[in-house]
Amino acid sequence: MRELAKFRDPEIARVLIREVRTLAARVAELLGRRAILMEVCGTHTAAISRAGLRSLLGDYIDLRSGPGCPVCVTDYADVDRMVAFARLPGVTVGTFGDMVRVPGSGSSLERERAEGADVRIFYSSRDAVYYAAERPERQVVFLGVGFETTAPAVALSIKEAKARNLQNFTVFASHKLVPPAMEALLSDPELRIDGFILPGHVSIVIGRTAYSFLEEYRLPSVIAGFEPNDILDAVRLILKMMVKDEPAVLNGYTRVVREEGNRIAQQQMADVFDVCDASWRGLGVVPQSGMCLGADFKEFDACERFALPEIRPHIPAGCACGEILKGKLTPRDCRLFAKVCQPTQPVGPCMVSSEGACAAYYQFERGVE
Ligand code: SF4
Repeated sequence: MRELAKFRDPEIARVLIREVRTLAARVAELLGRRAILMEVCGTHTAAISRAGLRSLLGDYIDLRSGPGCPVCVTDYADVDRMVAFARLPGVTVGTFGDMVRVPGSGSSLERERAEGADVRIFYSSRDAVYYAAERPERQVVFLGVGFETTAPAVALSIKEAKARNLQNFTVFASHKLVPPAMEALLSDPELRIDGFILPGHVSIVIGRTAYSFLEEYRLPSVIAGFEPNDILDAVRLILKMMVKDEPAVLNGYTRVVREEGNRIAQQQMADVFDVCDASWRGLGVVPQSGMCLGADFKEFDACERFALPEIRPHIPAGCACGEILKGKLTPRDCRLFAKVCQPTQPVGPCMVSSEGACAAYYQFERGVE
């Protein structure tokens, strides 16, 4: 805890804020506008809102949220598929908590549960394997939602199910890879990003070198931890690189992130999943950005085991989640924000998850300009 204290120290924060403002003013002179920095990770979005950094720095830099909330980037069709699994007789849907309240086209897992479906929240995918082992009469479909952070544990659970020869456990594989989504953002001609605050948790698994592609774009980027001074220091480093015109990908979270990441976790993913195209809310289909079950584990693919009805998703009018996840809009730009759409009555997923931009703005930045 003593080690962490400096990352929350208000004196250090004051020094960093002063330096960030000075550098940002210099960058604004060079660009003729405020620098636009994107935090890619939903946990950073919540941390920035909670610490009030957006309002402290808003006159100097434009901080945008990106596609870093796993529940939020799960597209409507996949949410509808999850609902369809819950409606199948004899099926138990196992999920992490946030997914339950995400609205699909006409329903949500929460609503299905209220109407009698067996939807259970598990704190780990392994618990779902144990649950399946104890109830051979049920088919357990676990919802594999998340980034490189959650996929290794799900991969281990699938291996365990195979070792136990479980015939009643499958996974709906909707995991996503962060770097291809960032490349998709950078190829959007309407989007201007001057630097990335790179995710801390994902980087623990994939390492700093996974972002080498950013060097081609000459985009200053820094892997950051989640304390306020971690984030301020990352912003400071990005702006400093901009002033010097020396872009690089730096690791500002060296207390946990290694150059090459966590090789064991990477191997678990590679053993079980193949990389495939994936559909993201807002970004559409991003090539090579998803994880599907590989040939040796196809028997655990819920989509292979169960026939689902045709899915025809429709997006609720007015919800701007897709544009917010691309950093083109902020929650305040959505006309439903804090009116029709609230945490107790979410219209889109960005208002559901604690990592969603709309939920973070609602909780910490409502009324703050
Ligand atoms: S405020 Fe609600 S409706 Fe608007 S973008 Fe956010 S989640 Fe969607």
